[in-house]
Amino acid sequence: MLEVNRVRAGYGAINVLWDLSLTIREGEVTAIIGPNGAGKTTLLRAIMGLIPLSQGDIALHGDSLAGRQTWSIARHGISLIPEGRLVFRDMTVEDNLTMGAFPNSRRAGVAHNLARVYELFPRLAERRRQLAGALSGGEAQMVAIGRGLMAEPSVLLVDEPSLGLAPVMVQEIFGILERLKAEGRTIVLVEQNTHLALSLADHVHLMQAGRLLLSEPAPRVDLQRLHDLYFAR
Ligand code: ATP
Repeated sequence: MLEVNRVRAGYGAINVLWDLSLTIREGEVTAIIGPNGAGKTTLLRAIMGLIPLSQGDIALHGDSLAGRQTWSIARHGISLIPEGRLVFRDMTVEDNLTMGAFPNSRRAGVAHNLARVYELFPRLAERRRQLAGALSGGEAQMVAIGRGLMAEPSVLLVDEPSLGLAPVMVQEIFGILERLKAEGRTIVLVEQNTHLALSLADHVHLMQAGRLLLSEPAPRVDLQRLHDLYFAR
């Protein structure tokens, strides 16, 4: 459903993605793994239109996203949950979530989607009137994911949801991602923790230095080979 075709992109004169091609299939969890600096976040930014493509194309359901602005890509059905649990600290949990509905023109769905997010994250329902700045790291990650869901995206891009969280919180967040997967959502997961990524993913892409080293269905991934590729430089 989402096709990345021979994409080159980077930051000004620094190119990061080198002719990268991959396919994201509908209803699957696609994990993008790879070492620091491989370009995983840059790929998500390119999909979201946050950096321009210098070559190649990205298409959702056959419609090219190249050259579109981020709000237009969001409205087209892609949500990015960025690394670092970015929440508006001076706003309440509920206002943070409601902001996520912005790209959705069917604003009548806001109340329904809020109820759905609170059902997924009962802890956020309890804290709906609290300022987001007072939340724990795990709760802030829940807000970030919930906000991403508010726009009813057809593709959810999740960047390093486990980063810096206590193990019990990581389990909770991955439990939620597991539920979203069971609902048939399409998720692109960037994750440094290979074992976590493999536990959830249907398909795995290993990136290094802006290129793909391996693309395989998760059950077929040979951990030894993955390890060898990961550390081969
Ligand atoms: P990490 O897990 O460390 O976030 P990553 O695979 O997501 O790694 P990216 O964040 O995409 O990697 O970074 C890829 C390369 O792009 C790195 O060499 C990084 O230094 C560079 N880079 C990232 N952001 C910028 C920026 N805003 N300006 C210039 N270079 C950048």
